[in-house]
Amino acid sequence: MTNNSSSSEPQANEFSLQHARQLDSNDPMQRFRERFHIPNIGGREAIYMTGNSLGLQPKSAQKAIQTELDDWAKWGVEGHFHAHNPWVDYHERFALGLAHITGGKPHEVVAMNALTVNLHLLLVSFYQPSGKRTKIVCEAKAFPSDQYALESQIRFHGGNPETDLIEIQPRPGTHFIEESDIEAVLEESGEEIALVLMGGVHYFSGQLLDMERITRAAHEAGAYCGFDLAHAAGNVVLQLHDWKVDFACWCSYKYLNSGPGAVAGAFIHEQHTQREDLPRFEGWWGHDAQRRFLMEPKFESMGTAEAWQMSNAPVLNMAVHAVALDLFLEAGLPALRERGDRLTAYLERAIHDVAKQNEVRLEVITPSSPERRGSQLSVVAHGYGKALFDQLTEQGVVADWREPNAIRMAPVPLYNSFEDIARFHAIFLEATAL
Ligand SMILES: *Cc1c(COP(=O)(O)O)cnc(C)c1O
Repeated sequence: MTNNSSSSEPQANEFSLQHARQLDSNDPMQRFRERFHIPNIGGREAIYMTGNSLGLQPKSAQKAIQTELDDWAKWGVEGHFHAHNPWVDYHERFALGLAHITGGKPHEVVAMNALTVNLHLLLVSFYQPSGKRTKIVCEAKAFPSDQYALESQIRFHGGNPETDLIEIQPRPGTHFIEESDIEAVLEESGEEIALVLMGGVHYFSGQLLDMERITRAAHEAGAYCGFDLAHAAGNVVLQLHDWKVDFACWCSYKYLNSGPGAVAGAFIHEQHTQREDLPRFEGWWGHDAQRRFLMEPKFESMGTAEAWQMSNAPVLNMAVHAVALDLFLEAGLPALRERGDRLTAYLERAIHDVAKQNEVRLEVITPSSPERRGSQLSVVAHGYGKALFDQLTEQGVVADWREPNAIRMAPVPLYNSFEDIARFHAIFLEATAL
């Protein structure tokens, strides 16, 4: 049977290993897989579907760290100037890669700290409740760390999270949020809202929000708009500058493959980077670089996103981030997203096929439209419990389980393959057979 039909009816052999391998060998992006270490389980390559939690290690990581260790051994403190990548302006290595990832300008992005830390630092600048305007709008069931950050910021300013945090609920019977519901809240109580802060891609449902539309609505209401891009950075194509997003932050250990707890990032739109009326927590690495070592008492801002940077770069941790971003620059995010859409759609068809063949209820709660998702599918396995997940794990599937019955999977275009998904199909089919 040949596979050239455009009908939505799946081919009888659509999930055969042979067909999947054919799809891989026809795909120029498949070549990036060999640039990563793929974990091995029971003597076979794992079917690694948790790149949205901890991305895999680029093979270039080890040498990147070794280079810094060697330079430190050789130069000591002089490595700040004589290392292969001089440490004194080490953070500047990230401007191009992060601009590509976020659609920001190089002077609007900075690699620093950790995600929740950056969220707090940006809230210092962009959450300034005053008068009637005290509220923050966020999504219901935001990632716990974001909830804690928002609630503690509200309390810090003397507010009450019970009334100052407005959570947008998913539409009944669905797991995702309608942008029009956010607009309605902003229209109704806009003058009470200081800030809209949402996850660009929701960690649980995998829904991608229309960030441009939400930013426009927030600005029309007179509020700032920021995004937590933990699940969006390196996953979906972003245009933060053009969308006029005020600020954003993300981590680099998920889709950006920079290693556990690696340095995070922040975006501040250029319309804010030179403002002097914006409050900010400051340190010496935000001071004008030309005069940083004159040790003057008065802070002179860099006037870029670097002004939010407080400390000198944690070089050993950042070395991997640099080579991980290089892979994105080489592949190009739009091409990766295109492959990611095909992998995700293939996985979705595989899940529907298993449900149909075994007559079981497997509900994909992630939006089905590629415009509303990236490389993640969340599946609710009705009538199943953790035993199903454990069986998948035993067979080499590394996925993410959320009580009571949800499985999250991320087919990552840099290293997951059609073959991974065909193998998953066979394992899932067996695990859900009567
Ligand atoms: C992964 C994730 C975090 C983790 O925060 P850290 O500060 O990196 O520990 C926070 N928020 C969201 C939305 C996440 O997905």
